[in-house]
Amino acid sequence: MITAALAGNPNSGKTTLFNALTGANQRVGNWPGVTVDKKEGWVKKDRSLRIIDLPGIYSLSPYTLEEVISRDFLLDEKPDVVINLVDASNIERNLYLTTQILDMGIPTVIALNMMDVVRKAGDRIDTKKLSQSLGCPVVEISALKGEGLEDLLREAAAAAGQKKAPFERRFSAPVEQALEKIGALIAGAVPEERRRWYSIKFFEQDAKAAEKTGLAPEALGAIDKIIKEGEKALDDASASIITGESYDYITGITSACIKKSRKGLSASDKIDRVVTNKWLALPIFAAVMIFVYYISVTTIGAIVTDFTNDTLFGSWIMEPLAGWFEEIGTAGWLASLIVDGIIGGVGAVLGFVPQMLVLFLMLSLLEDVGYMARVAFIMDRIFRRFGLSGKTFIPLLISSGCGVPGVMASRTIESERDRRLTVMTTCFVPCGAKTPIVAMIAGAVFGGVWWVAPSAYFVGLGAVIISGLILKKTRPFAGKAAPFVMELPSYHVPAMGNVLRSMGERGWSFIKRAGTIILMASIVVWFFSSFGFVPAEDGGGTSFAMVEEMDESMLAVAGTKVAVIFRPLGFGFWQATVASIMGLVAKEEVVGVFGVLFGVEGDALGLVEDGDFGALSPIAAPFTMLTAYSFLVFNLLCAPCFAAMGAIRREMNSGKWTAFAISYMCVLAYAAALMFYQFGILIAGAGFSLGSVVAIAVLALIIWLLVKPAWTEKKAAAPLAAEAAR
Ligand code: GDP
Ligand code: MG
Repeated sequence: MITAALAGNPNSGKTTLFNALTGANQRVGNWPGVTVDKKEGWVKKDRSLRIIDLPGIYSLSPYTLEEVISRDFLLDEKPDVVINLVDASNIERNLYLTTQILDMGIPTVIALNMMDVVRKAGDRIDTKKLSQSLGCPVVEISALKGEGLEDLLREAAAAAGQKKAPFERRFSAPVEQALEKIGALIAGAVPEERRRWYSIKFFEQDAKAAEKTGLAPEALGAIDKIIKEGEKALDDASASIITGESYDYITGITSACIKKSRKGLSASDKIDRVVTNKWLALPIFAAVMIFVYYISVTTIGAIVTDFTNDTLFGSWIMEPLAGWFEEIGTAGWLASLIVDGIIGGVGAVLGFVPQMLVLFLMLSLLEDVGYMARVAFIMDRIFRRFGLSGKTFIPLLISSGCGVPGVMASRTIESERDRRLTVMTTCFVPCGAKTPIVAMIAGAVFGGVWWVAPSAYFVGLGAVIISGLILKKTRPFAGKAAPFVMELPSYHVPAMGNVLRSMGERGWSFIKRAGTIILMASIVVWFFSSFGFVPAEDGGGTSFAMVEEMDESMLAVAGTKVAVIFRPLGFGFWQATVASIMGLVAKEEVVGVFGVLFGVEGDALGLVEDGDFGALSPIAAPFTMLTAYSFLVFNLLCAPCFAAMGAIRREMNSGKWTAFAISYMCVLAYAAALMFYQFGILIAGAGFSLGSVVAIAVLALIIWLLVKPAWTEKKAAAPLAAEAAR
């Protein structure tokens, strides 16, 4: 059996190629010990060829988790051949990874992907020359159209027969001398076929590679001397010498092998001139997001949701079911459990699935087309101004689906401070599970007015930016932004297969949650809202029984006590309190709670006969627009669900930091909702109150935090320095 590792830059088409080669027989798992997806599968037509899909990477330097995983795989698992996917429309950038793979000496075949794009643009690539310059086979393919795949497999099988790639690129003379000397020193300590690679890594002072060899200190000292000599000869740091020479090498190759058809800008570049324009970028981004939310939550999604809520759950399921229960004389509590608890709660959540699917569909489309890469680029420009890297934006992007992988994605940020900051703020972005809350408030209270749904996205993004600004000025987060290099892939026509698959996966996991966690939570809420201590029938004392009015239930009694906290925010009634708290179980459950508590008011079966069930109107009753939006703001920003909190705990790897992160979110959510509500009623004409004074104080504090001078190194007080040293 031949094992082929598939390596390439993000967006080079790895997933597309992998799916084309393996068909449906892939296996997705985790790399042991880490949470990066690992895909492997067998080639459809040739079962003896196994393909491992490595994470998308720009280089094999050991800075990000993906890079480390890929590198360790190539070093330790020793695949027979590497299939290096190169985006032919972006060859210069892609070849950087190629040179690093070739340095490893593993037999490599280059799959020159996106050839259809190159041909269409009229560019020419001299593949023969490219293959000669790099010393490995180069096969033109189009993963999307399935062209060239058989050639690729044939070349891969042939290359796998060789033990070692025959070709080595040459560096400048001083570097080659240094490499030779280092090579002599480490001979025996490393596998012979990796000697060249280790020599280069030692020269670059790559600590992770050095660690792997377990070389004696004397040898390390000698190597240090060799490096110093080389650095002196070329007057540069050793790592930048290698990087610089790599790029020179690549430029040499590409200028000889690529003939661009015209000097002018490609269509992609032309679009980018507008889309990433200094002044237009943000308005365009805002317009795009407004459009996305408008379509998914307000129009198309809402129509389907109304259908699911009213017709599907109302007329098709609830009414017949309720009638049937009455007919067969089901016990009151059982009918209530099923109708109010289960269908009320789970149904309310499931009712929003269509909206979420449309939202996911549109977000995946934006991602697949290549727009989101531009957004990361635009955001980098903005974030950088206050010391945050654009890398922060990638986790934010992922969080718009679900906060858990979003938090995990922050691992790619090298600076620990920036990583913590990202982990703390990434859950502010409304995730898929928050969509039902947004849709519920927008639909039920605001009658589907267009701006409510997109505004939720901007509230989240605003919270991230304000938090970044404030926290970056404090000691634990101060520091320069790490450089962020990101390739802007050319725009693509989206591959509907990819888009639909990713939408399907997200939608399905959501439905599964409705059937498990939401179901359980809804039953719990139903139980505590249906039972309570009522005066016993014989007159003496109280007894535990089903309550006539929900207001007498245990949940209402307990909830009313807690609700005091939310009075300054405008939604100090027990149902909203219970909903906010249950939101910690899963954010959809906020809607689930309203489904249980308001879906059917009073007599369960009575209202169903009126055909009112499923409509959102009862939910709106206790809210005004002001209190509803305040409720929305609080629930968007406060602590995320337990699953996301767990992810935060894992990534922070510290109870203290986790507690700080969660408290920060809650405090910020409270402050934001408080200001919104208090200023809202002030503007609406209510007089000054204690609440308005507090709101003004909070606003003043935030403004001060925003404008105060940033913490800098020399101002560090001694006790703080001691704290940091720990
Ligand atoms: P990955 O990030 O490396 O897994 O890349 P994907 O497989 O997700 O592909 C990125 C984008 O490139 C998708 O929109 C694909 O449809 C597109 N794509 C992949 N291969 C080709 C190709 O050969 N030709 C064209 N035109 N587009 C491609
Ligand atoms: Mg992919």
